[in-house]
Amino acid sequence: MFQRVVQKSARSAGRLQLQAPRSSRSSRTLHTTPRRCNASLNSTATSFIRSHDKLASVENTPYFIDNAFKQSAATGAQLVDVHDPATNELVTRVPQMTRDELEATIASAAKAYPAWKNTSIMARQQIMFKFVALIRENWDRLASSIVLEQGKTFADARGDVLRGLQVAEAACGAPELLKGEVLEVAKDMETRSYREPLGVVAAICPFNFPAMIPLWSIPIACVTGNTLVIKPSERDPGAALILAELAREAGLPDGVLNIVHGTHDTVNFLLEHEDIKAISFVGGNKAGEYIFSKGSALGKRVQANLGAKNHAVALPDCDKNHFINSVIGAAFGAAGQRCMALSVVVLVGETQSWLPELVEASKKLSVNGGFIEGSDLGPVITPHSKARIESLIQSAADEGATIALDGRGFKPADPAFAAGNWVAPTIISDVKTDMTCYTEEIFGPVLVCVQADSLDEAVELINRNPYGNGTAVFTRSGAAAERFRRTIEAGQVGINVPIPVPLPMFSFTGNKKSVAAGGASTFYGRPGINFYTQQKTVTALWKSEDVVAKKADVSMPTQS
Ligand code: NAD
Repeated sequence: MFQRVVQKSARSAGRLQLQAPRSSRSSRTLHTTPRRCNASLNSTATSFIRSHDKLASVENTPYFIDNAFKQSAATGAQLVDVHDPATNELVTRVPQMTRDELEATIASAAKAYPAWKNTSIMARQQIMFKFVALIRENWDRLASSIVLEQGKTFADARGDVLRGLQVAEAACGAPELLKGEVLEVAKDMETRSYREPLGVVAAICPFNFPAMIPLWSIPIACVTGNTLVIKPSERDPGAALILAELAREAGLPDGVLNIVHGTHDTVNFLLEHEDIKAISFVGGNKAGEYIFSKGSALGKRVQANLGAKNHAVALPDCDKNHFINSVIGAAFGAAGQRCMALSVVVLVGETQSWLPELVEASKKLSVNGGFIEGSDLGPVITPHSKARIESLIQSAADEGATIALDGRGFKPADPAFAAGNWVAPTIISDVKTDMTCYTEEIFGPVLVCVQADSLDEAVELINRNPYGNGTAVFTRSGAAAERFRRTIEAGQVGINVPIPVPLPMFSFTGNKKSVAAGGASTFYGRPGINFYTQQKTVTALWKSEDVVAKKADVSMPTQS
């Protein structure tokens, strides 16, 4: 773990420092190793960027093939600019890889598959143990990349890494999870089941969890014997590339994990490629529903986690302070850019009078650059996202709601952040369920408040919403909590817990419009192992005595 030292200079006040500041070196970056590729990769476990200062030079993001980083031939309009959301300074450029480059990465994964499939599960487990240790060692380095490209606060970015690391830790239990079954089904006859890998599989990731979501796929797909091609979000690919570097160091052979880049063309390439047997997608409904239907139509397995609108219910008997702190944390943390953000609060009965306290507590959050000590939430991902969020806030005002706290127009005190994508916590009250701010997933630091007279009315309101990712109820009553648990349709339910994402011994169980195919294939846990493997059953007969058959029996065997 690095030592945090706060620089004293006014320019860098409050910024996290890896080592004691060195006057001979620019305070902007801490590059102690030779530059290899983009800013995230040009770092080590103990030396990485920790301020929002402009980079001395900007390099294109490489792709990863056969355990090597390579630069794409893409130029000009085929490069997507990635900016630090706190400053909008350029950080890297992500290529729309050429068709030949994409083809080569699939060929590499296909070539690696037979040997990897036949590598013993114990050897694969050892690699996973090393991978886990390396992620722990590089935890802050990964978090730094997330702050730089995605905009989260450093503490929140560490949480992003942790929730992925936990999936890798759980994947170390693969020998247990892959065990088949055996049953003696008749005299001298037994049936065994095996779980075998699928082949080359692909994962398409969103921008909001640059480490966690690649880690929903890398450990499980690889430990089960598949080879994997990942497409990180074109908006923040750095963490996925660091993970690839760590996987190589852990011992994954060439081609077992490749990383490709691009946008729609790359996604379509992966969808259409006949060597790819399964697609894991996490992102919004527009892309996800398209990917699910096209991938399924082309005969691939597809798991797809989609958008959300998560409700918290406040019952009058709840612990008020716990409720207020929980909702504020879950609504505004990560600037509201979590699929499990609590974006709607249902105030039941007298809790409607708590609105002013909710507003006052929200005003206390510090909105600032993610590298700044004490910052509670950072900027949103792009200027386009900021403009969309602001227009949804305006739509609420236009449609008759009340803007109880308006975070538009916010700027942190430091002029270095003047060009960032800032939206401060915003609370909208008097909202009706037909208003745009309620029907749209805002994906920003905006909390929408609706009212209900009873728990049953609150449950009915939530169940009418087409999304079903998560929900939470705040109460001291076991009976009320149990009624909520039984009647609510959302797939991940918190009882006095604001973000009830289960740890990886369970699975991520969103439902309704928040997941494709009613959640038939969920991420991680035992269902994750099932997704990345196919079953084979073998029925064997070992006669204990010689039999002289009089005639072949052509009726359907009953094995009895
Ligand atoms: P997005 O759908 O815009 O992008 C996700 C991925 O799909 C990216 O890699 C992108 O390049 C690709 N993509 C985007 N549009 C595409 C198209 N039309 N055709 C083909 N590919 C396309 O999502 P995002 O903005 O990166 O992430 C935010 C969304 O993800 C939110 O809706 C959020 O709720 C959702 N999300 C869901 C979960 C979950 O588990 N349910 C988790 C995280 C994020």
